[in-house]
Amino acid sequence: MKIILLGAPGSGKGTLAKKISRDFNIPQISTGDLFRAIVREDNPFANKVKEIMKSGGLVPDEITVEMVKNRISQDDCKKGFILDGFPRTVPQAEALEKISQIDSVILVELSHDTIVERLSSRRTCSNCGEIYSTDDNNTGFCFKCNSPLIQRDDDKPETIRHRLEVYEENTAPLINFYSDRLFKVSSAGTPEETYEPVKAFLRDLEAGVE
Ligand code: AMP
Repeated sequence: MKIILLGAPGSGKGTLAKKISRDFNIPQISTGDLFRAIVREDNPFANKVKEIMKSGGLVPDEITVEMVKNRISQDDCKKGFILDGFPRTVPQAEALEKISQIDSVILVELSHDTIVERLSSRRTCSNCGEIYSTDDNNTGFCFKCNSPLIQRDDDKPETIRHRLEVYEENTAPLINFYSDRLFKVSSAGTPEETYEPVKAFLRDLEAGVE
């Protein structure tokens, strides 16, 4: 089963992807996580990507497509995968069509005001990437691995608005691009409430795909 999670930054794609990955046994491929791993290094390429990410802009399509192409050619993707944060532009989606046949696109919908609120209170584990809100974990440490929690540079209020503009301009057109394969879900409720209809939909899809 090959799935794309589409939605604005902070709409809850990552949280949803983790649940799908666990229950359907397919890897979550987050291009944001892949880039965050790259920028931990210190070389001219990593530093360029770091600047782009910090500003809330998009890494060039050729680089991003090549990275995803390599990742989905790995053995663990043979039975399928969940793309979280890719594609983010129409050229990326066109390139993906040539590489792989996507079964379904899940559009995660949330108002921009709620997104700004949620992202401002989002904290990420510096070691395992687990996501928290300061509302449920104000200890500063991860409940799973006890590593320090950090606020991503691009989760600062001034960058969030820019990321949402970039989404509207570059990524929202993909809703039309995938209109033949779109399943919409609101993430205004709890993560479990968001997941419930998605899980039911994917169970049906799985039965049809296999
Ligand atoms: P995310 O964790 O998905 O919000 O991604 C964090 C940042 O990584 C984005 O703001 C972009 O700078 C970069 N990035 C992630 N995915 C893509 C993509 N598909 N195309 C271009 N840049 C991306």
